[in-house]
Amino acid sequence: MTLPDPAASLNGIRSGNICDSCNRRIQHGDKVSMYATWYNKGGWTPRRTWCMKCCPEAVDPGTEGADEVIVEAVFWSHQLAGVRVKDRSYPREQ
Ligand SMILES: [Zn+2]
Repeated sequence: MTLPDPAASLNGIRSGNICDSCNRRIQHGDKVSMYATWYNKGGWTPRRTWCMKCCPEAVDPGTEGADEVIVEAVFWSHQLAGVRVKDRSYPREQ
């Protein structure tokens, strides 16, 4: 099965503006990073938001059986814009 492109799916999604790691406030126009996982029913679902200082370089450790991505985007009017996939961890087949 081919999943919808996470960058396209997360473009325009609403995002919180507080870094989950350092609690820094993310300003309109700042770059932001997000961790999202795929759910069959919910599509690409945002799980964490970070400022660029706290953003991990990769999905590590990956979760077996989960399709996960780390993306970078611009935080724009409380939405993600220009989403780019930084790392992706594919589910491991049994
Ligand atoms: Zn931070």
